[in-house]
Order: sequence, then structure tokens, then C-alpha cells
Amino acid sequence: MIAAGAAASAPCPSLAPRAAALLREQQVRIWTQTGRLFAALFLIQWVAGIYVALTLSPRAWSGSQSSTHLHVWTAIYLGGAITLFPSALALARPARTSTRHVIAVAQMLMSALLIHLTGGRIETHFHVFGSLAFLSFYRDWRVLIPATIVVAADHFLRGWFWPQSVFGVQMVSQWRWVEHAGWVLFENFFLTIACVRSHREMLQGAERSAELEVSEERYRSIMEQAAEGICLLDPHTKKVLECNRAFEQLLGDPNAGDVHKATAHLIATVSATTSARPRDFQVVKADGSTLDLSVTVSRISFGARETLCASVRDVTERRRAQEALRQSEERYVRAARGANDGLWDWDLTTGEIYFSQRWQAMLGLTGDQQGSLDQWLKRIHVDDHMSFLASVRAHLGGRTEYFEHEHRMLHLDGGYRWMLCRGLAARDEFGVASRMAGSQTDVTDRQIASEQLRHAALHDALTRLPNRALFTELLEHAVLRARRHEEYRFAVLFVDIDRFKTINDSLGHLIGDRLLQGIADRMRENLRAGDVVARFGGDEFTMLADDMQGAEDAQEVAGRIQEALKAPFTILGHEIRVTASIGVAVGSSEYERGEDLLRDADVAMYRVKTLERNQQGDFDTAIEPDHALGPHISAVPGSTAFTPRVA
Ligand code: GH3
Ligand code: MG
Repeated sequence: MIAAGAAASAPCPSLAPRAAALLREQQVRIWTQTGRLFAALFLIQWVAGIYVALTLSPRAWSGSQSSTHLHVWTAIYLGGAITLFPSALALARPARTSTRHVIAVAQMLMSALLIHLTGGRIETHFHVFGSLAFLSFYRDWRVLIPATIVVAADHFLRGWFWPQSVFGVQMVSQWRWVEHAGWVLFENFFLTIACVRSHREMLQGAERSAELEVSEERYRSIMEQAAEGICLLDPHTKKVLECNRAFEQLLGDPNAGDVHKATAHLIATVSATTSARPRDFQVVKADGSTLDLSVTVSRISFGARETLCASVRDVTERRRAQEALRQSEERYVRAARGANDGLWDWDLTTGEIYFSQRWQAMLGLTGDQQGSLDQWLKRIHVDDHMSFLASVRAHLGGRTEYFEHEHRMLHLDGGYRWMLCRGLAARDEFGVASRMAGSQTDVTDRQIASEQLRHAALHDALTRLPNRALFTELLEHAVLRARRHEEYRFAVLFVDIDRFKTINDSLGHLIGDRLLQGIADRMRENLRAGDVVARFGGDEFTMLADDMQGAEDAQEVAGRIQEALKAPFTILGHEIRVTASIGVAVGSSEYERGEDLLRDADVAMYRVKTLERNQQGDFDTAIEPDHALGPHISAVPGSTAFTPRVA
């Protein structure tokens, strides 16, 4: 603590030259003033000396003859010499050390002269002490040295050779000069102390002034370089005491004659306000333009003087930017509302996510708008988690330009809604994302519509069975699988209803349609898991039977279809019995394309039809493989032809 205190009071070393210069300035001032005082004093002493000479010993008598006493001439000439030379130096070269020393010597000589003119009166000796005190006005103890030497030498010499001149008596102790000199030294001791102290105080004063100058300079530069306008006001008179350049640039010189309205308004407002909180107001400048200002007023005291300090900041640009931002936000919210979108804003540093009211309403929620990723994930369908997180990571990692993902979200009613979620990350200068925000759009209807479209494109409208396109696609998959796994077998069954045209022609298309639906239903009902039945076109149905061991299995499936179609169909009161011709091709790794299999099954079916026609109803004998049609229409791996069995 002591060290700190000492350090605080010690002058800053960098201020020493400035303090020395200030001290020197003060010394020169003191030396000049004291020199002038001595010049005046010399004049007075000169006149006084002449007066004393004229009064005490105007004339010298020699018998009855008298003449002007030598004292008078001494007072005039010697006094003049003692007066004029140092006075001239005091006026011409006041700050020189030599001038001070000459003055000190001259002043002591003047004392000696006066002592002599008064006949060595002891009272006149007090002039010596007065002179020494006067010399200490220089606050330079060194000037006391020549003065003391002169006094001592004068008393010694005159005391020795001419004692009545200095002591007023003929006979005197030879050591009396020592006593006089001793008293002079006695006084000098105190005067020296006074001079040294005074010098030290002057030095301290100079150091304080130097510090004050620096502090003043610092204050000035802070004031002038401050971006804010600063204005100091007298709280009583409301006069502007001081203001900086920024203030003048904002509002003009408040003390100029043509102080304009804006400044006047500001001053009035500032004077009336002492709130420490910034106050915003708008002023109209002299040129008619408006200025948005933020003003903070505080009371500060300089010593005992209280002052109002107003700091004024131009917030016009900030206001405009805020207004533009507000409008832009409003526009965005309006647009989002118009688009029926929910909004979300994810602070990646805290992990908090803001979900807008609309976002929540889309899921039937009304709760807290703050949430977390976990809460979000809880609502996302579990099958969509992986892809959702992968998509988020890809965007945060900078691999995608924006985030976009479609997923199912759990609604409060327990159902799922399809949501399209879009977002964009805000990144720092290193590309690290700190925030991500975006929208959520309910695309359930679109999703359903596209699902329906997809379904319609791949299914038959009448029977709701897969259509030719879907069947062909599935068949290609099966062919590929068979090529990859040699032991894998499957079968394609080509089913064509016999003499369907006749039904159409005799009972009409409507009944024909219903019959096709009925046939489709029966085939669907008799499907094994993993098998597919499709309406290939017209009265043709195709079937993909999975996991066959060989032709026998395929025959069994075909037999099951025949069995299923056996029972009569009752449509609009008509009992209809149908038969179908079925061609089978067993798929294996030998097939490269699904259409080859279809072709073989079709050919097999066609062959059955032909057989049926040729045999004219001998349907029971028809079940037999036909190897004549080549390897593709054989039981394994080719096709097997069956004739229908009509009840
Ligand atoms: P076949 O024994 O040789 O098969 O003789 P078919 O009369 O069944 O004749 P084919 O299979 O060559 O023709 C099928 C007929 O089925 C042709 C068409 O009149 C009828 N048809 C095709 N599509 C539809 C449909 O969507 N509804 C109805 N009602 N009839 C259809
Ligand atoms: Mg037919």
C-alpha cells in the first residue's frame, strides 16, 4: 500500500522535461520581477543616500571655510555607480545568474555606503538584514553567498582600517566584524531554508502543472475524437459551456449567433432532463432534414461546480435499418402466414429451437414455443429420423446449399402429416454454423395426391390389380434375382378368359366389367404371400409366383387358379361360369429379360387355347406339358400348358 501510494505521488518520468520547463518559466518570471523591484529599490536607496548625506553632513568645514562634504559626492557618484549598473542589468538581462549576483553584491555595497553615510550607526546595519531578506525574493539561496562575502569583507576591511566608518567608533575589537558576519550567517541559514523550500514547492507546482497539462490534453483529445457529440451545460443558466467537434458537426455551433432551431430544441430538452437513460428524439435541422438522436444526460461535478453533460449520438442510420428490418420481418411473417408455413429458428450454441405458433398449430399443438431437437425428433416418424438427421448434418457441414427434407410428423390426433421442411444456416467467417432457421409446409395433400397418381399409373382402374407396367417392373426384378441366385426359381402364369367376347356380346359390357372384377377378386384371394397378380390387358391376367421349386409347383398354382374360377359368378342376377386358359413359364437364370418369360407363358397359353379348340371340349385330357414348343416352354425351366377344365 505504501509503495502504491508513493508511486501514485511520484511524478511521471516522461513529464520531468515539461516540469523543468515550467519551473524555468516561473523562475524567469520571478527573477525578472525581483530584478525590477531591485532596480526601483536601488533608485530609492540612491536618493535616500544623497538625502542622508545632505542632511547629516552637507558641508565640510576647514576653519571658517566650508565646502560640500565628501559624503554628498560619495552618495551621488558612488551611490549612482552602485545603482545604475545593476539596474541596467536587471532590466536588460533579468534572467541571468550573473545579474542576480551583481545585484546581490551591489545591494550589499549599498548597505555599506548607507552605513558609512550614517556614520556607522548600528540601526543602519539593519539594512543589511533587510537586503538579505529582499534578495531571498529571488528564491535562489546562491545569491546570498556573494552578498555574505561582501558584508563580511566590508566589515573586516573597514573594521580593520576604518572602524568609525562601519562601527561609528575609532577603537573597536578586531573581531567585531566576525560577530556581524555571524549574525548575517544566522539570518542566511533561515533564508536558505526558505529558498530551498520555496524552490521545492515551485518544482512540485511545475510537476502538477505538467500533469494537469497532460490530463487536459487527454481530456481535449477524448472530447474531440469522440464519435458522440458531447456538450456541457450550466444547469442554472442553461448556457452551453463547452461542446466538442462532433456535437458541432451534428447540430452546429450552439454559441454562434445563428444558433438554429435544432440545437435550441436539444438544449431545451437536455436542460429539462436528468435521466441517465438514453432518450431518443427527432430534430429538424436548419436545412430541413430530420435527424434521429439518442441523448444521454448526466450530472457531473467539476470541483464544486455542477454541470450537465449531454452525449448525443446520431442514430438516423440505425433507425432506418431497424425500420427496414421491422418491415422486412413483417413482410416475412405475412408471407409465411400467407403461405401457411410454420417457422422454426434453431440456436445451435444453446440448442434451443423456437417453433412459431403456426408451426405448432400444424401439429395441433399450443404449448411452449421453445423446444429442442429431441422434442422435434419425437414428433418425426421413426422411419424418417435417419434421413432427416443426415440431411441436417449435410447442410450444417456445408455439403448442401440449403436444408430440405420431407418427413412425417406426428399430429396431436395421433395421425401423421407429411411436412416439407426447409432451412438455411447462418455461419461465421470460418463457415461454422451458429444458427439455422427455416419453414415447415404441410404437404400431406400433395403427398397423397402423388401417391394416388403413382398408384393409378401402376394399377388397373377396373380391378385395382397391378397393371402391365408394374407387373413388368416386378418381373424384371425377379429375373435379376434369378440371375444372381441360380437356385432361385419363379413362374409366370399367363391367364386368358375363354370366349369372354361372347359374355360381352350376350350380357353387355357392364356385366363383362363386373365379371372381370369378380375374376380379379378370386385370383387375389387365392394369392400366396409374395405372389403378384396383375391385369395384363383385356381379359388377360398375369401372375408372378415366387419361390418355385419346379414345374410341379407352377402346375399347382395354375390348378389353384382353375379351382378358384370354378364356382359360378352371380352378377346382376346372372349366373356365369367361366373358364380360363393358363400358360406357364418357369423363370430361371437362363432368362435375361422378363418379356421373354411373358412371351413364353403367352405362347403356352395360346397353345392351350388351340388345343382346347381342336379337342372341342375334351378338357380333362388336356393337362400335359408340351415339349414340342421347345426348351422355353417346358416344365423346368420353361412353361407348361394347361387346358381349362369346364364344369
Ligand atoms: P378366346 O377364347 O380366344 O380368348 O376368345 P375371347 O372371346 O375371349 O377373345 P379375346 O380374348 O381375344 O378378346 C378379349 C375380349 O375381351 C375383347 C374385348 O371385347 C373384351 N374386353 C377387353 N377388355 C374389356 C373390358 O375392360 N371390359 C369388357 N367388358 N370387355 C373387355
Ligand atoms: Mg379371352
